[in-house]
Amino acid sequence: MRDSNCIFCKILDGRIPAAKVLETPQCLAFLDIGPLAEGHVLLIPAEHFETIDQMPAEAAAEMLAQLPRLVRGVRAATGCAGVNVLQNNGAVAHQEVMHVHFHIIPRKAGDAFRFNWPAGKYPQGRIEQLAETIRSKLS
Ligand code: AMP
Ligand code: ZN
Repeated sequence: MRDSNCIFCKILDGRIPAAKVLETPQCLAFLDIGPLAEGHVLLIPAEHFETIDQMPAEAAAEMLAQLPRLVRGVRAATGCAGVNVLQNNGAVAHQEVMHVHFHIIPRKAGDAFRFNWPAGKYPQGRIEQLAETIRSKLS
C-alpha cells in the first residue's frame, strides 16, 4: 500500500527521482538529499507505514535483512571509520518524512555530526518496575 501524498511513496512509484542503491520487492535504499555525511543512505519499506511500531514483523524483517549488506556497501564505498543507524518515530523524535526509514550515516573521526545524549540515572527499583511494565505491554 502506498500514500499518494508521501514523498517516499512517490520515489517508490518512480514519480520523483532518487539515487537508488538497492531495491528488492520489500524495500528500497537511496541516497539522502540532505546528507549528514557523504554516502548517507535511507532504507525504506516498499509499503507505506508511518512509524516502526505500525509495521508487521515480516515487513520489518524483510527490510532489515538488507541492512548488513547495505552498511557493508556504504563502508566500502566511503571508507568511513564507523556508521550510525538511526530511525526516528514521530515529530517529537525528529521524524520529518512520515514513511518509516532507517538512516545509515557514515562516520569518521572529527566529523561534524553530534548527539545530545543526556544519559540519566534510575532511582532504586525504577528500572525493574519499568521493565515489568514494558513486558506487560508487548503485543
Ligand atoms: P527524518 O527527519 O528522520 O524524517 O529524515 C527525513 C530525511 O529524508 C532527511 O534526512 C531528508 O534529507 C530526506 N529526504 C527528504 N526528501 C528526500 C528525497 N526526495 N530524496 C532523498 N532524501 C530525502
Ligand atoms: Zn510513503
